[in-house]
Amino acid sequence: MKCCSCKNTELEPSELEHGLLAASCPKCKGALLPLMNYRFWSEHSHEISDIHTELAEEAAGAKQCPKCSGMMTKYRIGVNTQNRLELCSHCDEVWLDAGEWDLVKTLDLHKKLSSVFTEAWQRNIRRQKEKSSMHAHFSKIIGESDFSKVEAFKEWVDAHPKRSDIKHFINTKFD
Ligand SMILES: [Zn+2]
Ligand SMILES: [Zn+2]
Repeated sequence: MKCCSCKNTELEPSELEHGLLAASCPKCKGALLPLMNYRFWSEHSHEISDIHTELAEEAAGAKQCPKCSGMMTKYRIGVNTQNRLELCSHCDEVWLDAGEWDLVKTLDLHKKLSSVFTEAWQRNIRRQKEKSSMHAHFSKIIGESDFSKVEAFKEWVDAHPKRSDIKHFINTKFD
């Protein structure tokens, strides 16, 4: 199997963690991880090695699965990282660029890596990103210090049992 990043480099058997078997590229340090191996490992092992690898920049462009040559789908890992993992849903194999396994551990996702590839996980990331861009947008318009007051007020209103009356009152014009 050839590396899907460097194209011509042959993948070599490796261990991401003790007992977690993958196929790694000696050149770019990326790794192809069969989710079957991952599931077995995560059910049996609770120990992870120290985080040491430098995180690679997220490689641009689509990748082809080293096994079946099909296109791999990119999945965001979290809201605050640009890195995405590639999955071949046909082979059930994940491509991790150099440092991304360590990133997974840093984000405390090494016990629930499979969740990243669910629609619910991806939807939640999209929602959080929308929320933070809305916040940035209004914070810029309203001004940072006033926005934090508005935000606290909104939180209070949204949790209030009489919120619809409060909102109604706010929107009422007396003139
Ligand atoms: Zn490579
Ligand atoms: Zn494949």
